[in-house]
Amino acid sequence: LVYVVLLALFYLTLTFGVVYTGRVLYREARLSRMKTDFVSLVSHELRTPVTSIRMFIETLALGRVQDPAQTREVLRLLTQETERLSTLIERVLDWSRIESGRKEYNPETLLVTDVVETAVAAFRAQRLEGDLKLSVQVPIPPPPVHVDRVAIAGALLNLLQNAYKYSREDKRISLTVRTVRRWVELTVEDHGVGIARRDHRRIFERFYRVDNLLTRRTEGSGLGLAIARRIVEAHGGHITLQSELGKGSRFTIQLPVEKV
Ligand code: ADP
Repeated sequence: LVYVVLLALFYLTLTFGVVYTGRVLYREARLSRMKTDFVSLVSHELRTPVTSIRMFIETLALGRVQDPAQTREVLRLLTQETERLSTLIERVLDWSRIESGRKEYNPETLLVTDVVETAVAAFRAQRLEGDLKLSVQVPIPPPPVHVDRVAIAGALLNLLQNAYKYSREDKRISLTVRTVRRWVELTVEDHGVGIARRDHRRIFERFYRVDNLLTRRTEGSGLGLAIARRIVEAHGGHITLQSELGKGSRFTIQLPVEKV
């Protein structure tokens, strides 16, 4: 019997060892792949606007455009590329603050409309091209929440920007606020390309972008949803997704209702 027990223990230790080593190796490989992804993504996404900015400056400096209208257009593109670059830098810095636990929140009790209006104003200020139709519905009276307005509005803005970016011609987007028991739900729905079931979990991981034509053509860092999820979770909330490929997506931010 002692022999059998010893043998069983030996095999158990061996199996545990193999499984454990396997898991450590897998984690290491995953981390190293993520770092490579990070470097290649950031270098590509950073290089593109810098190249364009340099080109536009050269165009102006060499006096290649004389017409005032054309000059204005080059300046507009220059501003657009600079904004793109600074958004990307902000995203990377934001993510690193979150990851290292340095991100600070200043929560206050406010009506959910304050958050919605901040996000919608920033969204509309982006002068988006195409036929955007945004509908916003908030219950009356709006429920109170205890949140960092800037941070939660930023997460909501990211959902609105994604809804727009990943829609083709049909740019109908709706933002609906509801109170469900002790939760305030902010839902952003689009009629865009949708997300396949297998990607539902992964799109919230940092740097993950779905591999399709539209994503490849659209600028992005793969950090937006990872940041949004961390912000919402830091407020005791959740972010969920319902989506069907080719039909559209519905992202919901759930936040605890503030008792007043
Ligand atoms: P980014 O948009 O910068 O790539 P995100 O973290 O915001 O990064 O999103 C990750 C990926 O999830 C996107 O690259 C895109 O493939 C997919 N995605 C996000 N939102 C939507 C949406 N509303 N419809 C379809 N795909 C989406």
